[in-house]
Amino acid sequence: MSHNIAVIPGDGIGVEVMPEGVRALEAAARRFDLDFKFTDIDFASCDYFERHGKMMPDDWRDRLGGMDALFFGAVGMPERVPDHISLWGSLLQFRRAFDQYVNLRPCRLMPGIKSPLAGRAPGDIDFYVVRENTEGEYSSVGGRMFEGTDREVVIQDTVMTRTGIDRVLKFAFELAKTRPRQKLTSATKSNGISITMPYWDERVLEMAKSYPDISVDKFHIDILTANFVLHPDWFDVVVASNLFGDILSDLGPACTGTIGVAPSANINPEGHFPSLFEPVHGSAPDIFGRGIANPIGQIWSAAMMLEHLGHIDAGKAVVDAIERVLAAGPSDAPLTPDLGGRGTTSELGETIAEAIKTG
Ligand code: ATP
Ligand code: MG
Repeated sequence: MSHNIAVIPGDGIGVEVMPEGVRALEAAARRFDLDFKFTDIDFASCDYFERHGKMMPDDWRDRLGGMDALFFGAVGMPERVPDHISLWGSLLQFRRAFDQYVNLRPCRLMPGIKSPLAGRAPGDIDFYVVRENTEGEYSSVGGRMFEGTDREVVIQDTVMTRTGIDRVLKFAFELAKTRPRQKLTSATKSNGISITMPYWDERVLEMAKSYPDISVDKFHIDILTANFVLHPDWFDVVVASNLFGDILSDLGPACTGTIGVAPSANINPEGHFPSLFEPVHGSAPDIFGRGIANPIGQIWSAAMMLEHLGHIDAGKAVVDAIERVLAAGPSDAPLTPDLGGRGTTSELGETIAEAIKTG
């Protein structure tokens, strides 16, 4: 089966790591007999903005909407274009237009990477954060009253819908079903947020009835963040509202070492629209142009894309290859400087691609 993939490198090191992500996909395609058609996209970048005065052409929805997946690098060059323009004009438009209501981040400690949590080894940290990506705390309902007076009042409402909660919970429960530990943890704060969060808890209990084999627990967000650090081995799939998920999906990967390796996905599970796969890191203007950016976040995002497209074995082979190359260490593999090595972006990408091919 052939897949149409939009390749959107964006800005900064996005442009440097993207070719390595594509190389990994090509290696997986060869080994597993898959067929990808890549379409290079030059918009959603600050270069495009400087030429056209906007981040994307007017017909971007038509050009991307029919793709099977969007493979994204990073966007933003704050020295040249303010982040609220570059980010709002591209990535956030994709998330909204393509109803990517699940933000998924694996938090997995890889071999050869030192966790900032003392004494943690690979195997101790291996879970997913599932973040609701479209509603909740990030609504624009609210406003200011009595502005400029000392009676000033500011209100911003949380909006949760049954449909919105249920669909992200369903994704999380389904994911838990595929995991060896069959466990789901819900982030809540129903002891302090007395209307929306008890409703979230209710929906979790309701959905749990359809998944009798999944063990379910919940933590208030304050103690949950503490437990990410103290007991990361407790977690398997963690599901959270938009704001709590935002926090957890940065904390989780941070517990697994360098930002250069972490991947993420913005998913429309029904496949009505293309999902988007991107590294967690940004455009890193501070190291751009030196060829030393770690390509693993991009390559691991390619693995998530393969899984999403139904090629579970191919996705697993890419993650295995990353693990083997990392385990070889900086003396035997061209690891990038953030991993303690002296390799370049393309040397590391090439080594991982070879490892994918040979299996
Ligand atoms: P964002 O664009 O998401 O707001 P940011 O600009 O604050 O994020 P990043 O661009 O992710 O942050 O960079 C944070 C730090 O991590 C920088 O010092 C950067 O050099 C480093 N970094 C980020 N990605 C990589 C990578 N792939 N390889 C090596 N170092 C990286
Ligand atoms: Mg940035």
